[in-house]
This record gives sequence, structure tokens and C-alpha cells, in this order.
Amino acid sequence: MARRRNLRSISTPIVLGAVSVPLAIALLVGWTLLIAENLSTRTDIALDVWLLVIGAISFVVIAAVLVLFSYYLAREILEVRRQDSFIDSVTHELKSPLASLRLCLETLARPDLPAGTREHLREMMLGDVDRLSSFIDDVLQASRLANLDQVGVSVSEIDFVTLATEIAEGVRMRRKLPERSVRVEAEPGFRIVTDEASLTIVLRNLVDNAVKYSGPTVDVVVRARRDDKQRAVIEVVDHGIGIDPAHRSAVFQRFYRVQSPEVRERKGTGLGLFVVSALVKNLGGAVDAISEGLGKGTTMRVVLPSDQEAKSVANEEVHA
Ligand code: ADP
Repeated sequence: MARRRNLRSISTPIVLGAVSVPLAIALLVGWTLLIAENLSTRTDIALDVWLLVIGAISFVVIAAVLVLFSYYLAREILEVRRQDSFIDSVTHELKSPLASLRLCLETLARPDLPAGTREHLREMMLGDVDRLSSFIDDVLQASRLANLDQVGVSVSEIDFVTLATEIAEGVRMRRKLPERSVRVEAEPGFRIVTDEASLTIVLRNLVDNAVKYSGPTVDVVVRARRDDKQRAVIEVVDHGIGIDPAHRSAVFQRFYRVQSPEVRERKGTGLGLFVVSALVKNLGGAVDAISEGLGKGTTMRVVLPSDQEAKSVANEEVHA
């Protein structure tokens, strides 16, 4: 019902724009031809020429304003639609761990509970609290980044393998996955000079997505290497549902979720990649979604500046 209302609300301004723009252009052309015809039969034409020029400029401006108006209106309506589905997702993301926590607490109150079950419930509760807290981090981070708040960069030398392994283990535990399902493949001791807090959020989001958008058998690899310019190239590779090339850059927009049944059946807010992209840009890097198409898996590639450049990006921010 809500979907139908949304479709109706977006079609009205588009139809209005589509009708009014050609009308304005037809009026402009007709009116120009009329004046031009009059000009050829008159001797004192200075005033008419001026009228012609001013009229033509006004019509061009009107047509441009109409096109812009239709474009912005359609964009705003799409944004409102995305926010609607964001609110649905937020409600789910908040309610389901809370419901699970409540159930665990009620079960824990039973005096006859075996120690093993008690421990299992405790782990479940920890997982739910982690999920809630990382969700709240994403929402807060996205709101700061959307308001163009400066996100402080404090660079240090990070042991990539240790950080990525911790994140992979966290995601595996939370989603109850076997050991080899999320692996880190980088030279032992591979180090990156960057902001640890930002890189942690970026990796957590990418690994979490790679698992979430995988099929029943999860096979995710986190890779890192240096390219010929000494930049750090980090890739999170999955063999999941893939991304249609048409959505490749849009997935980094705020609240954007691909409208497909495979994506809809997995819960999400459309904030993760927006946060990733903003944080990576803030570090002086770039992120790209690479996929050969639907069903063919996805590689998320983050390129971070060389250690030398990373230090100078951080210095610029300190002096700004
Ligand atoms: P969400 O909370 O929906 O996962 P994100 O901002 O993290 O939000 O991702 C935006 C959209 O990009 C997702 O809704 C999904 O359509 C697509 N996407 C992200 N990561 C992947 C992936 N690894 N494989 C396939 N699609 C992905």
C-alpha cells in the first residue's frame, strides 16, 4: 500500500515536468518564429529585436528551471522513499537484538539451567550487544559524515593482519560461521600507516557485508598488498549475490539498497557503504565495488595512500 502511494507521489511531478518542459520549448519556438516573420515585414525593428532577445533568454531560463525543478523533486522523493525503508530497517535492527536479549535474560532466570546452556546464552547476549553497538556506531558515524563534520585522523602504524583477523573472528562469531569461512591473506607483519579507528569501521562493514550477501556457503577472503606506487590495496572478496554494474557506484550513497529480492530478504540500512566511502575519502583513499554481475560475487577494493602520503594527509588536517 505504502509502495503504491510512493510510486504515485513520484509519478505526478515527473509527468508535470515532462509535460511542461516540451510546452515551454514549443511556446519559445512558435513565438520566435512569429516575431521573426513580423520582423521581415517591418522597417523599424530595434524594439522587436530587443523583445526577441529578452523573450528568448527568459524562455531558456524558464525551461532550465523547470528541468532542474523536476530533477530535484524526483531526487527528493527518492530520498524520502529510501528514508522510509531506512526507518523500517532501523526498527528491525533495534528490535530483534532487544527481543533476543529479553528471551535470553528470561531463560537465564531459570534456576535449573545447565552450565553449558548458561554459557551459550551469555555468548548470544554478547553477540546481540555487539550487533546493537556496531549498528549505533554506524548511524552516529553516518549522521556526522552527512553533516560534513570533520572526522579526526590520527595515523599510526597498524599491523594489518592482526586487525583484520580480529575483525574476521568477530564477524564469524556473531554470525556463527566455521573457522575457514572468513580468511585473511596478507604477508605476516604487513603494516599500514593510517587511522586505526576509521580502518576498523571500514573493514568491519566490508567483511560484514561480504558475509551477509553470500549464499549459504560463506567463503570470504580479506587480502592486502602494496601496488607499484606503494599504496595499500585492501580487497574483501566474496562469492555471493554480486552487484549489477548499474548499481556499482550508487551503493555508496546514503540509504541506498539495491532493489532486488536477494537484497530485500537480508536486513540492512543502506548506511554501511556510505560510511565506508566517506571514511576512506577522509583518509585520502578510494573505494570501488567490483563484480562481474549478479550471482558472480563481489570484490570491494579500498586503496589507501602510501605511508608517506598518509602522514602528510594527517599533517594537513592538523594544520587546517
Ligand atoms: P546495507 O545495510 O543494505 O547492507 P550498505 O550501505 O552496507 O547497506 O550496502 C548498500 C547496498 O550495497 C546493499 O543494500 C547491497 O544492495 C549492496 N551490497 C553491499 N555489499 C555487497 C556485497 N558484498 N555483495 C552484494 N551486494 C552488496
